[in-house]
Amino acid sequence: MIYTLGIDIGSTTSKGIILKDGSEAAASCIVVAGTGTTGPNQVMQQLFEQSGLKKEDISFTMATGYGRKTFEGADEQLSELTCHSRGTSYLFPQARTVIDIGGQDAKVLALNEQGKMVNFIMNDKCAAGTGRFLDVMAQILQLKIGDLEKEAAKADKPAKISSTCTVFAESEVISQLAMGVDIPNLVAGICQSVASRVSALAKRIGIHEQVCMSGGVAQNGGVRKALEAELGTPVLYSEQAQLIGALGAALYAYERVMNK
Ligand code: ADP
Repeated sequence: MIYTLGIDIGSTTSKGIILKDGSEAAASCIVVAGTGTTGPNQVMQQLFEQSGLKKEDISFTMATGYGRKTFEGADEQLSELTCHSRGTSYLFPQARTVIDIGGQDAKVLALNEQGKMVNFIMNDKCAAGTGRFLDVMAQILQLKIGDLEKEAAKADKPAKISSTCTVFAESEVISQLAMGVDIPNLVAGICQSVASRVSALAKRIGIHEQVCMSGGVAQNGGVRKALEAELGTPVLYSEQAQLIGALGAALYAYERVMNK
């Protein structure tokens, strides 16, 4: 039996997965603490606890994500673009566009028929169109991040959030709240705002079907639905979306062992 470990150290969260023989997940976890915190070590600890394995049982550890370079527990590091492409094409071989919205950035990757990345574009300069925007808004509305989808689904007249800057959008949401706009319509407007920003980014490199979402924000059905409407195409989604980078890293780790 060969066990490989992939760890994805993001700006906001740390994610990990242990694969058995390059396919079956022996353990996986997500810790809401990213680079520069104890998050990566907590992930390692949880993965070993869940699987009953020890460090010596792991044949290869691959690190990816924003914080990969400062993590000392890996055999190799690979960029998150490479790992997200690999994880996505493993789950969805038909995907040609990957929209990855994380805690502090959004990326759009174009894949070829072999699942290799051939182009990408990213926004890492502005919080609008990222998980950070949603986190800030959820806080203002005193909602949990996981509740945004449920609230957005109840909307009948989504609010229009016209500010493109998170700080101004924050005051806009507060003033709409004061004017009596209800929470579901505000949340739907907030999800719509993220979808508009990201679809504008995606259109710059061209949308090739099928489209898949990865990253933590993919779990928000409100953003997925708004993105489908903006792009005019269905968006593939797996409940493992936030683990796709870690999955890609564990798959590359398995490849390293097999090619030794
Ligand atoms: P990074 O890799 O940059 O750390 P992730 O891909 O892990 O980021 O995404 C983190 C973001 O995912 C958070 O900022 C949050 O907005 C969003 N998120 C996390 N959990 C959920 C959830 N259960 N439902 C909706 N969105 C979520």
